[in-house]
Amino acid sequence: LIQLYIPLNFMGTVYREIKQATLDIEQMFSLIGRDPEIQDHPGALPLRVDAGEVRFDDVHFAYIPERQILKGISFTVPPGKTIAIVGPSGAGKSTISRLLFRFYEPQKGRILIDGQDIATIQQVSLRSAIGMVPQDTVLFNDTIEYNIRYGRPEATQAEIAEAARLAQIDRFIKSLPEGYATSVGERGLKLSGGEKQRVAIARTILKGPPVLVLDEATSALDSFTEKEIQDALDRVSQGRTTLVIAHRLSTVINADEIIVLDKGLIVERGHHRELLAADGVYAALWNRQRQVDEAKATLQRATAEE
Ligand code: ADP
Ligand code: MG
Repeated sequence: LIQLYIPLNFMGTVYREIKQATLDIEQMFSLIGRDPEIQDHPGALPLRVDAGEVRFDDVHFAYIPERQILKGISFTVPPGKTIAIVGPSGAGKSTISRLLFRFYEPQKGRILIDGQDIATIQQVSLRSAIGMVPQDTVLFNDTIEYNIRYGRPEATQAEIAEAARLAQIDRFIKSLPEGYATSVGERGLKLSGGEKQRVAIARTILKGPPVLVLDEATSALDSFTEKEIQDALDRVSQGRTTLVIAHRLSTVINADEIIVLDKGLIVERGHHRELLAADGVYAALWNRQRQVDEAKATLQRATAEE
Protein backbone atom coordinates (compact mmCIF):
# COMPACT_ATOMS: atom_id res chain seq x y z
CA LEU A 1 0.00 0.00 0.00
CA ILE A 2 1.43 3.34 -0.97
CA GLN A 3 0.09 6.43 0.70
CA LEU A 4 1.15 9.91 -0.14
CA TYR A 5 1.89 12.69 2.28
CA ILE A 6 1.66 10.86 5.52
CA PRO A 7 4.34 12.20 7.80
CA LEU A 8 6.49 9.91 9.84
CA ASN A 9 4.20 10.28 12.82
CA PHE A 10 1.52 8.97 10.52
CA MET A 11 -0.49 7.16 13.16
CA GLY A 12 -1.57 10.46 14.69
CA THR A 13 -2.48 11.84 11.31
CA VAL A 14 -4.45 8.78 10.34
CA TYR A 15 -6.35 8.88 13.59
CA ARG A 16 -7.28 12.54 13.13
CA GLU A 17 -8.32 11.95 9.52
CA ILE A 18 -10.57 9.11 10.54
CA LYS A 19 -12.16 11.13 13.32
CA GLN A 20 -12.76 14.08 11.01
CA ALA A 21 -14.26 11.87 8.37
CA THR A 22 -16.86 10.13 10.49
CA LEU A 23 -19.49 12.49 9.19
CA ASP A 24 -20.51 11.45 5.72
CA ILE A 25 -21.61 14.69 4.14
CA GLU A 26 -24.19 13.13 1.89
CA GLN A 27 -25.76 11.19 4.73
CA MET A 28 -25.65 14.14 7.02
CA PHE A 29 -27.70 16.09 4.52
CA SER A 30 -30.19 13.30 4.32
CA LEU A 31 -30.47 13.19 8.10
CA ILE A 32 -30.87 16.90 8.70
CA GLY A 33 -32.62 17.54 5.41
CA ARG A 34 -30.44 20.47 4.47
CA ASP A 35 -27.98 22.91 5.90
CA PRO A 36 -30.34 25.46 7.47
CA GLU A 37 -27.94 28.30 6.71
CA ILE A 38 -27.95 27.67 2.99
CA GLN A 39 -31.23 28.45 1.29
CA ASP A 40 -32.30 28.23 -2.30
CA HIS A 41 -32.71 31.67 -3.84
CA PRO A 42 -36.26 32.54 -4.81
CA GLY A 43 -36.57 31.45 -8.40
CA ALA A 44 -33.62 29.05 -8.19
CA LEU A 45 -33.65 26.71 -11.16
CA PRO A 46 -32.84 23.02 -11.24
CA LEU A 47 -29.31 22.20 -12.38
CA ARG A 48 -29.15 21.04 -15.96
CA VAL A 49 -26.23 18.70 -16.37
CA ASP A 50 -25.03 18.41 -19.92
CA ALA A 51 -21.42 17.25 -20.31
CA GLY A 52 -20.64 17.54 -16.58
CA GLU A 53 -17.85 20.13 -16.45
CA VAL A 54 -16.91 21.32 -12.94
CA ARG A 55 -15.15 24.66 -12.54
CA PHE A 56 -13.81 26.49 -9.50
CA ASP A 57 -13.26 30.13 -10.35
CA ASP A 58 -11.12 32.11 -7.87
CA VAL A 59 -12.78 30.53 -4.85
CA HIS A 60 -12.04 32.07 -1.46
CA PHE A 61 -13.39 30.51 1.69
CA ALA A 62 -13.13 30.78 5.48
CA TYR A 63 -15.14 28.87 8.10
CA ILE A 64 -14.45 31.71 10.52
CA PRO A 65 -13.47 35.20 9.34
CA GLU A 66 -10.10 35.20 11.12
CA ARG A 67 -8.84 32.15 9.27
CA GLN A 68 -8.78 31.95 5.49
CA ILE A 69 -8.85 28.30 4.34
CA LEU A 70 -9.02 28.66 0.53
CA LYS A 71 -7.23 31.69 -0.88
CA GLY A 72 -8.24 31.85 -4.52
CA ILE A 73 -8.63 28.40 -6.04
CA SER A 74 -9.23 27.98 -9.78
CA PHE A 75 -9.35 24.73 -11.67
CA THR A 76 -11.52 22.94 -14.20
CA VAL A 77 -12.42 19.29 -14.31
CA PRO A 78 -13.27 18.62 -17.96
CA PRO A 79 -16.26 16.35 -18.59
CA GLY A 80 -15.44 12.73 -17.84
CA LYS A 81 -11.91 13.50 -16.63
CA THR A 82 -10.30 12.90 -13.25
CA ILE A 83 -8.55 15.57 -11.23
CA ALA A 84 -6.59 14.51 -8.16
CA ILE A 85 -6.17 16.90 -5.27
CA VAL A 86 -3.20 16.15 -3.06
CA GLY A 87 -1.49 17.96 -0.23
CA PRO A 88 -0.77 17.82 3.46
CA SER A 89 -3.45 17.33 6.07
CA GLY A 90 -5.31 20.56 6.77
CA ALA A 91 -4.51 22.03 3.34
CA GLY A 92 -8.21 22.45 2.51
CA LYS A 93 -8.83 19.38 0.33
CA SER A 94 -12.04 18.20 1.97
CA THR A 95 -13.25 21.81 2.15
CA ILE A 96 -13.25 21.84 -1.66
CA SER A 97 -15.62 18.87 -1.71
CA ARG A 98 -17.87 20.49 0.91
CA LEU A 99 -18.11 23.64 -1.22
CA LEU A 100 -18.95 21.63 -4.33
CA PHE A 101 -21.82 20.09 -2.36
CA ARG A 102 -22.75 23.60 -1.27
CA PHE A 103 -22.51 22.61 2.32
CA TYR A 104 -20.86 26.01 2.64
CA GLU A 105 -20.66 28.91 0.22
CA PRO A 106 -17.51 30.71 -0.94
CA GLN A 107 -17.08 34.28 0.29
CA LYS A 108 -15.66 35.16 -3.10
CA GLY A 109 -15.51 33.40 -6.46
CA ARG A 110 -17.84 30.91 -8.10
CA ILE A 111 -18.30 27.20 -8.53
CA LEU A 112 -19.86 26.21 -11.83
CA ILE A 113 -21.27 22.99 -13.20
CA ASP A 114 -21.75 23.15 -16.95
CA GLY A 115 -21.60 26.93 -16.68
CA GLN A 116 -24.26 27.24 -13.97
CA ASP A 117 -23.21 28.88 -10.71
CA ILE A 118 -24.19 26.37 -8.04
CA ALA A 119 -25.20 29.25 -5.73
CA THR A 120 -28.11 29.98 -8.06
CA ILE A 121 -29.54 26.50 -8.50
CA GLN A 122 -31.82 24.27 -6.45
CA GLN A 123 -29.80 22.37 -3.87
CA VAL A 124 -31.76 19.18 -4.30
CA SER A 125 -30.86 19.05 -7.99
CA LEU A 126 -27.21 19.76 -7.21
CA ARG A 127 -27.01 16.93 -4.74
CA SER A 128 -28.70 14.47 -7.02
CA ALA A 129 -26.05 15.23 -9.67
CA ILE A 130 -23.10 14.52 -7.38
CA GLY A 131 -22.07 11.17 -5.96
CA MET A 132 -19.84 11.16 -2.93
CA VAL A 133 -17.70 8.30 -1.68
CA PRO A 134 -16.27 9.52 1.61
CA GLN A 135 -13.11 8.17 3.19
CA ASP A 136 -15.04 6.74 6.07
CA THR A 137 -18.60 5.73 5.42
CA VAL A 138 -21.25 5.76 8.11
CA LEU A 139 -23.97 3.31 7.14
CA PHE A 140 -27.60 3.55 8.13
CA ASN A 141 -28.65 1.24 10.90
CA ASP A 142 -30.69 -0.84 8.48
CA THR A 143 -30.24 -3.69 6.01
CA ILE A 144 -27.49 -3.86 3.40
CA GLU A 145 -30.15 -3.63 0.72
CA TYR A 146 -31.51 -0.41 2.23
CA ASN A 147 -28.01 1.05 2.37
CA ILE A 148 -27.39 0.37 -1.33
CA ARG A 149 -30.92 1.22 -2.51
CA TYR A 150 -30.55 4.64 -0.90
CA GLY A 151 -28.63 5.66 -4.05
CA ARG A 152 -31.81 5.26 -6.12
CA PRO A 153 -34.91 4.26 -4.14
CA GLU A 154 -36.84 3.00 -7.17
CA ALA A 155 -34.06 0.58 -8.23
CA THR A 156 -34.98 -3.05 -8.77
CA GLN A 157 -33.43 -5.92 -6.83
CA ALA A 158 -31.51 -6.91 -9.96
CA GLU A 159 -30.04 -3.41 -10.28
CA ILE A 160 -28.98 -3.48 -6.64
CA ALA A 161 -27.27 -6.83 -7.13
CA GLU A 162 -25.51 -5.52 -10.25
CA ALA A 163 -24.24 -2.44 -8.39
CA ALA A 164 -22.97 -4.70 -5.60
CA ARG A 165 -21.22 -6.87 -8.16
CA LEU A 166 -19.47 -3.88 -9.76
CA ALA A 167 -18.42 -2.68 -6.31
CA GLN A 168 -17.02 -6.16 -5.58
CA ILE A 169 -19.14 -6.64 -2.48
CA ASP A 170 -21.74 -9.07 -3.90
CA ARG A 171 -19.93 -12.25 -2.96
CA PHE A 172 -19.43 -11.05 0.58
CA ILE A 173 -23.14 -10.15 0.87
CA LYS A 174 -24.22 -13.53 -0.52
CA SER A 175 -22.04 -15.28 2.05
CA LEU A 176 -24.06 -13.76 4.89
CA PRO A 177 -26.86 -15.96 6.29
CA GLU A 178 -29.48 -13.30 5.57
CA GLY A 179 -27.82 -11.92 2.44
CA TYR A 180 -29.08 -8.50 1.40
CA ALA A 181 -31.54 -8.52 4.32
CA THR A 182 -28.70 -8.57 6.85
CA SER A 183 -28.83 -5.66 9.28
CA VAL A 184 -25.68 -3.59 9.58
CA GLY A 185 -24.52 -1.06 12.11
CA GLU A 186 -25.12 -0.85 15.82
CA ARG A 187 -27.88 -3.40 15.95
CA GLY A 188 -26.46 -5.74 13.35
CA LEU A 189 -23.37 -6.94 11.62
CA LYS A 190 -20.17 -4.97 12.05
CA LEU A 191 -18.54 -4.34 8.69
CA SER A 192 -14.87 -3.53 8.19
CA GLY A 193 -13.85 -0.16 6.77
CA GLY A 194 -13.24 -1.69 3.35
CA GLU A 195 -16.63 -3.44 3.32
CA LYS A 196 -18.45 -0.28 4.31
CA GLN A 197 -16.64 1.64 1.63
CA ARG A 198 -17.66 -0.89 -1.00
CA VAL A 199 -21.30 -0.62 0.13
CA ALA A 200 -20.94 3.15 -0.38
CA ILE A 201 -19.44 2.55 -3.82
CA ALA A 202 -22.34 0.23 -4.74
CA ARG A 203 -24.77 2.94 -3.63
CA THR A 204 -22.97 5.49 -5.80
CA ILE A 205 -22.89 3.15 -8.82
CA LEU A 206 -26.66 2.70 -8.41
CA LYS A 207 -27.14 6.46 -8.17
CA GLY A 208 -25.12 6.91 -11.38
CA PRO A 209 -24.32 10.61 -10.90
CA PRO A 210 -22.58 12.59 -13.67
CA VAL A 211 -20.16 14.10 -11.13
CA LEU A 212 -18.24 12.11 -8.59
CA VAL A 213 -16.29 13.14 -5.50
CA LEU A 214 -14.03 10.56 -3.91
CA ASP A 215 -12.21 11.06 -0.65
CA GLU A 216 -9.76 8.18 -0.63
CA ALA A 217 -9.00 6.52 2.65
CA THR A 218 -5.61 7.17 4.18
CA SER A 219 -5.98 4.42 6.71
CA ALA A 220 -4.11 1.23 6.03
CA LEU A 221 -6.27 -1.32 4.28
CA ASP A 222 -4.71 -4.64 3.51
CA SER A 223 -3.42 -4.80 -0.04
CA PHE A 224 -6.12 -7.20 -1.23
CA THR A 225 -8.89 -4.88 -0.05
CA GLU A 226 -6.95 -1.93 -1.44
CA LYS A 227 -6.88 -3.51 -4.89
CA GLU A 228 -10.57 -4.43 -4.78
CA ILE A 229 -11.58 -0.95 -3.75
CA GLN A 230 -9.35 0.63 -6.35
CA ASP A 231 -10.95 -1.52 -9.06
CA ALA A 232 -14.42 -0.59 -7.82
CA LEU A 233 -13.54 3.12 -7.74
CA ASP A 234 -12.00 2.95 -11.22
CA ARG A 235 -15.24 1.44 -12.45
CA VAL A 236 -17.48 4.04 -10.90
CA SER A 237 -15.33 6.95 -12.12
CA GLN A 238 -15.21 5.69 -15.71
CA GLY A 239 -16.64 8.37 -17.98
CA ARG A 240 -17.75 10.56 -15.06
CA THR A 241 -16.30 13.89 -14.08
CA THR A 242 -14.30 12.97 -11.00
CA LEU A 243 -12.70 15.01 -8.28
CA VAL A 244 -10.61 12.80 -6.08
CA ILE A 245 -8.81 13.63 -2.89
CA ALA A 246 -6.05 11.20 -3.62
CA HIS A 247 -3.80 9.16 -1.42
CA ARG A 248 -3.24 6.18 -3.65
CA LEU A 249 -0.34 6.06 -6.03
CA SER A 250 -2.45 4.50 -8.80
CA THR A 251 -4.94 7.38 -8.58
CA VAL A 252 -2.40 10.17 -8.76
CA ILE A 253 -0.38 8.56 -11.53
CA ASN A 254 -3.46 8.05 -13.71
CA ALA A 255 -5.16 11.38 -12.97
CA ASP A 256 -5.61 13.75 -15.92
CA GLU A 257 -4.26 16.53 -13.71
CA ILE A 258 -2.86 16.66 -10.19
CA ILE A 259 -3.46 19.74 -8.12
CA VAL A 260 -1.12 20.24 -5.19
CA LEU A 261 -2.80 22.22 -2.44
CA ASP A 262 -0.91 23.74 0.44
CA LYS A 263 -2.31 26.20 3.00
CA GLY A 264 -5.28 27.02 0.80
CA LEU A 265 -3.32 27.73 -2.38
CA ILE A 266 -2.58 25.68 -5.47
CA VAL A 267 1.20 25.51 -5.31
CA GLU A 268 1.78 23.10 -8.20
CA ARG A 269 -0.26 21.41 -10.88
CA GLY A 270 0.43 19.00 -13.68
CA HIS A 271 0.95 15.37 -14.47
CA HIS A 272 2.75 13.00 -12.11
CA ARG A 273 5.95 12.91 -14.16
CA GLU A 274 6.02 16.67 -14.74
CA LEU A 275 5.63 17.30 -11.03
CA LEU A 276 8.39 14.87 -10.11
CA ALA A 277 10.67 16.55 -12.66
CA ALA A 278 9.81 19.98 -11.23
CA ASP A 279 11.39 18.78 -7.97
CA GLY A 280 9.14 20.98 -5.83
CA VAL A 281 6.51 20.37 -3.15
CA TYR A 282 5.05 17.33 -4.87
CA ALA A 283 8.45 15.69 -5.36
CA ALA A 284 9.39 16.39 -1.73
CA LEU A 285 6.14 14.91 -0.42
CA TRP A 286 6.57 11.99 -2.77
CA ASN A 287 10.09 11.24 -1.59
CA ARG A 288 9.09 11.53 2.03
CA GLN A 289 6.32 9.06 1.36
CA ARG A 290 8.81 6.63 -0.14
CA GLN A 291 10.83 6.85 3.05
CA VAL A 292 7.72 6.09 5.08
CA ASP A 293 6.99 3.08 2.90
CA GLU A 294 10.55 1.82 3.23
CA ALA A 295 10.43 2.30 7.00
CA LYS A 296 7.17 0.38 7.15
CA ALA A 297 8.59 -2.44 5.01
CA THR A 298 11.65 -2.67 7.26
CA LEU A 299 9.41 -2.75 10.31
CA GLN A 300 7.29 -5.51 8.77
CA ARG A 301 10.37 -7.58 7.98
CA ALA A 302 11.68 -7.12 11.52
CA THR A 303 8.31 -8.15 12.96
CA ALA A 304 8.15 -11.16 10.68
CA GLU A 305 11.59 -12.32 11.83
CA GLU A 306 10.66 -12.23 15.51
P1 ADP B 1 -7.78 18.50 4.43
O1 ADP B 1 -8.93 17.75 3.90
O2 ADP B 1 -6.86 19.02 3.38
O3 ADP B 1 -7.02 17.73 5.46
P2 ADP B 1 -9.84 20.31 5.43
O4 ADP B 1 -10.37 20.91 4.19
O5 ADP B 1 -10.64 19.26 6.09
O6 ADP B 1 -8.33 19.81 5.18
O7 ADP B 1 -9.60 21.47 6.49
C1 ADP B 1 -8.84 22.63 6.21
C2 ADP B 1 -8.74 23.47 7.45
O8 ADP B 1 -10.03 23.91 7.84
C3 ADP B 1 -8.17 22.71 8.66
O9 ADP B 1 -7.29 23.54 9.34
C4 ADP B 1 -9.39 22.42 9.49
O10 ADP B 1 -9.06 22.35 10.84
C5 ADP B 1 -10.29 23.58 9.20
N1 ADP B 1 -11.71 23.21 9.32
C6 ADP B 1 -12.31 22.14 8.77
N2 ADP B 1 -13.64 22.12 9.06
C7 ADP B 1 -13.87 23.21 9.83
C8 ADP B 1 -15.03 23.75 10.46
N3 ADP B 1 -16.24 23.17 10.34
N4 ADP B 1 -14.89 24.89 11.19
C9 ADP B 1 -13.68 25.50 11.30
N5 ADP B 1 -12.54 25.04 10.73
C10 ADP B 1 -12.63 23.91 10.00
MG1 MG C 1 -9.70 15.77 4.37
